[in-house]
Amino acid sequence: KPFTPQIFEYHYNNKKTKKQKTKKKELTHIRSEPLQSLKLASHEVLEQAQQKGRLKCAKCGGSRMFFCYTCCSLVGVGPQDVPRVKLPVKIDIIKHPNETDGKSTAIHAKILAPDDVNIYTYPCIPEYDQDKVILVFPGPKAVTVQNMIQSLTERAQDPSEPRRKRFRGSKEGAEGKESNAPPIQKVVFIDSTWNQTNKISTDERLQGTNLLQVELKTRKTCFWRHQKGKPDTYLSTIEAIYYFLKDFHELCLERVYTGEYDNVLFFYSYLHTVINKAKTAAGRK
Ligand SMILES: [Zn+2]
Repeated sequence: KPFTPQIFEYHYNNKKTKKQKTKKKELTHIRSEPLQSLKLASHEVLEQAQQKGRLKCAKCGGSRMFFCYTCCSLVGVGPQDVPRVKLPVKIDIIKHPNETDGKSTAIHAKILAPDDVNIYTYPCIPEYDQDKVILVFPGPKAVTVQNMIQSLTERAQDPSEPRRKRFRGSKEGAEGKESNAPPIQKVVFIDSTWNQTNKISTDERLQGTNLLQVELKTRKTCFWRHQKGKPDTYLSTIEAIYYFLKDFHELCLERVYTGEYDNVLFFYSYLHTVINKAKTAAGRK
């Protein structure tokens, strides 16, 4: 069974700096470093659940650990054991139907921030208002998070900008109402393999809505399924969400980041630790 290049979709910057060209040993260290300074809820409950092993999901009967990726419910852990993160923006994740749910990290976001995250399966995607919705996806037209608000404002003021699907009936954008809140209604992420992602992002509906594309600064992935031959700037969906939120907080909300959204990596960082331990153990044999 060939290894599928799972969710390395958020590839931001392929150019390697001198620092990145260091020895493999150092790279491994750098790669796991960002996860060590996170402000996370206790992983104790996950350790206990892991010792019990896989359990049957009460809804679908599937064999699961921590959560059911089909039903989006917790398995073997209670809701009080898992942090609930409040996000500064609403997030939509568009999944490819062929994507193996068990491998996707999109579900982490839905479970940890249920009030602010929605997952849609392509091609069933909502219609988006291009003045208020952005797509986090790299490309030649993509802007940085820092320039995102300005670009959005400029687009809204540009009469030549085509607006085929104007959002109607909303009072929240009423003119004359000065607000410091960024005019962002929703942030869209795409959860799929690199090739599938290209299909989705070039989809007529996403192009037709002409969403502003935003890309992140280079961040190295900590993703444990890091694949040979793929640059380590391919982020998993949950990493991309995390880094976007952090940038958004610092650059758009202009606030000091003190770990507000770190817990979106609650499962991710735990699984990362477990897999690293297993790798180290295997290496000693
Ligand atoms: Zn289930």
